[in-house]
This record gives sequence, C-alpha cells and structure tokens, in this order.
Amino acid sequence: MTSNKPKIVVLGAGYAGMMTTKRLTQKLEAEEAEIVLVNKHNYHYQTTWLHELAAGTLDPNKVRMLISDVIDTSRVDLVHDTVVEIKKDENRVILENGELEYDYLVVGLGFEKATFGIKGMEENAFSIQSVDSSRLIREHIEYQFARYSSGEDTNEENLNIIVGGAGFTGIEFVGELAEQVPKLCKKYDIDRKKVRIINVEAAPTILPGFDEDLVDYARKSLEFRDVEFRIGTKINECKPDAFVVGDDNEEIKGGTIVWTGGVQANSILGKSGFEIFKGKMNVNTDLRAPGYENTFVLGDCAWVMNKETDRPYPPTAQIAIQEADTCANNIAALLRGGELEEFVFDNKGTVASLGGSHAMGTIFEGKKLYGKTARAMKNVIDNRYLFMLGGPNLVLKKGKLRPF
Ligand SMILES: Cc1cc2nc3c(=O)[nH]c(=O)nc-3n(C[C@H](O)[C@H](O)[C@H](O)COP(=O)(O)OP(=O)(O)OC[C@H]3O[C@@H](n4cnc5c(N)ncnc54)[C@H](O)[C@@H]3O)c2cc1C
Repeated sequence: MTSNKPKIVVLGAGYAGMMTTKRLTQKLEAEEAEIVLVNKHNYHYQTTWLHELAAGTLDPNKVRMLISDVIDTSRVDLVHDTVVEIKKDENRVILENGELEYDYLVVGLGFEKATFGIKGMEENAFSIQSVDSSRLIREHIEYQFARYSSGEDTNEENLNIIVGGAGFTGIEFVGELAEQVPKLCKKYDIDRKKVRIINVEAAPTILPGFDEDLVDYARKSLEFRDVEFRIGTKINECKPDAFVVGDDNEEIKGGTIVWTGGVQANSILGKSGFEIFKGKMNVNTDLRAPGYENTFVLGDCAWVMNKETDRPYPPTAQIAIQEADTCANNIAALLRGGELEEFVFDNKGTVASLGGSHAMGTIFEGKKLYGKTARAMKNVIDNRYLFMLGGPNLVLKKGKLRPF
C-alpha cells in the first residue's frame, strides 16, 4: 500500500502498541494518515497472564488473540515481521524480511530479561517473556514429573522448581505453582511432599516496595501452600541444575529454574543508538524520545518520571495502556498542528494474584483488598482491558468470567 498520507508505524502489538493503534483509528480520519502495526506474531497476548500459562493453570489460547480480530484492518496495515533495527536518523525500520519508512514512529517493543551479569542465568534459566517462552516452562515442568513418574529419572531434586526473584512476576508465578503442583502430583502419582517450590530473593523482603500488610499476607498465604522462601539470599551463579547462593556458595537444586528477577527495554533500542539509562529510555513528558520529535517510546521500553517522587514509575500494563492515549492524542496534534499534552499517570492501584482464589493489592486511594475480593477485582481489571480493546465480544471470548 503506498499513499501520500503521513505514515505512522507502530512497533510491537503489546498493551502499548495495540491501544495506541486502536486509539489512532478512533481519533484520526482515514485520509489523515496511513497506520502500520508491526509485530513478531500475528497474535496479541496478555503479558500479565503469562505466569499462569507458564505454571500450566491457563490455556495458551486464552492468553492470546489474533490481532486482525481486534484491529480494524481496513484502517491498519498489519505487518507480521520481526523488527531488527530502527534507523532513527533516516526514519526507517529494518525488519527481518524487509524495511519500512515512517513519518511518525511508536516504539512498544516491550521488555527482555535482565540478568545483571549473574553467571549462567542467561543460558540456564527460563524466563516468562512471551507465549512461547512461557509454554516451554509449562512443558518442561510436566516433563520432569513424567520422567520421575516413569522411573526414567530417579533424582527427586529434579522435581523442584526454583524461581529467582520475588518481585511481582516471581510472586504471581509461585502462587500459580502452589495451585498447579498438587494437580500434577495427582496426575503423575507423586507425593506432594517430594516437590519443592523455592523462591530466592536477594532483597530482605518479598515484593520490595509493597505495603507491609500486603507483603505479610502474601507470604503467609504462599507459605501455607508450601512455597519456600529464601529471602536476603544473593544468587552468585545459575547452573543447569541449581542456584549457587550466599557467602558459602550453597547449591539450591532443581530441575526447573525460572528467572523473574529483572527486566529491561527491548535491546533493539540500544542497538539502534538510542540512549539507554538503567535498562530503559528516559522519555520526555510528552512521551517522545529526546531529540526525536517524531518518535514516541512507550510501555516497558520507557522510564516516565513521577514528579512527586522524582523517580520513574514502575513499568506496568496499566501505565502502558494510559500512555497509548497520550501518544495517540499527541500524534493527532502533530498531524493537525495542535499542542502536545503531557502524560499524567492516573494510578488505579495494583492487585497481585497469588494463585486460585488468593490475591491482594490496593485500589484507588490505597484501599487494601485481600483474598477473594482482591481476586475478583483482579478479574475486573483484566476484563476491563479486554473491553477497551474489543468490546463485550472480546470479554465473552477471552475474559475471566468464571469465579475461581
Ligand atoms: C508475568 C507477568 C505479570 C504481570 N502482571 C502485571 C499486572 O498484574 N499488572 C500490570 O499492570 N502489569 C503487569 N505486568 C507488567 C506488564 O505486563 C508490562 O508492563 C506490559 O506488558 C508492558 O507493555 P508493553 O506494551 O510495553 O510490552 P508487551 O506487552 O510485552 O508487548 C511487546 C510486544 O512487542 C512484540 N515484540 C517484541 N520484540 C519484537 C520485535 N523484535 N519485532 C516485532 N515485535 C516484537 C512482542 O511480541 C509483544 O507483542 C506483568 C508482567 C509479567 C511478565
């Protein structure tokens, strides 16, 4: 498709990319701009549900949807390809199978795992990063159970699942494991006591930065379901079958090792010559890349400053979705010669699932929620996003409608 209209290229169909594209189709008339959305896969997935897929508590097809089912393809040109590099000074994007020119660029390429140089972590640990990487974890765990049950592997330690990092993702993941492991034990006739779920964290607490009461609740809930914590424990190395930890280099053994301890912006940004600070890009208040007036960087690729604390907001789906609105407004303003707006984050709270009917978090002005109420609120948050993206039909098709 070639035209004389200004061309907006959106890279990545995650929360930021999908919502920006959706909003652009709503805010712009067809003759105002050509819109192109580039993504590695022909489907969009809910990154916030990947821990459930990885543990085996949610079906892979529940997590994803065809992009063409939710984006108006009469308005948007969908390109199913992998971005390799952004030639930022030439307004071109290099793809694995071609290239694209742009007048305006939106980068929503998400995160990659950050291993902080821990020896062996990159090679030996799984990560919850995409549908494919999460499906691999689920299959690997079940394979360990099947091997043990069949007598092919008699080493009980290979049943252990060790998880590095007790931040949001690590805690949500061990919560799902606490629900799934008893089911796998039943399926493969294995005594539950033989399987250990061990969460290792260098900080002195799980969920650093969370409210103390919520942390306490989460820890008790998970320990009650036999999750073991090794808090204040530094991982020195990741071997194929163990974390090596602490001053005495103790080995914590397991047949499945998952690293959830850190994320950074997609490395394409750094490779393309954009300045990266502590793993991500510091963007201007209007979400543009410093020095590049036609380029917006959103979601997990960007640090957006919280003026009140003088620290960046933690990257979340919530902020990525809100950034999409500002980005679409600002592109419309650039096209029409209007004023650009500043991004203002409206924090609606955070709820973490702890597996099954267990959850905790805060909503609105810090109101604390626990247990089934928190779990129900988590479903409301997830279904709200689906509603914004694809209306009631998408909620009915992909939403979490059943009580836990
Ligand atoms: C397990 C887990 C649970 C989470 N839970 C929550 C939660 O409860 N609440 C919350 O607010 N946040 C949560 N988060 C954080 C949240 O998921 C991220 O902040 C959010 O996904 C960021 O959105 P994004 O659009 O920047 O990136 P993503 O949603 O990750 O999307 C990036 C997109 O880019 C595509 N892509 C990547 N590389 C390329 C390439 N080279 N070429 C083409 N396409 C490419 C990917 O396929 C993907 O479609 C969670 C994260 C994880 C991992």
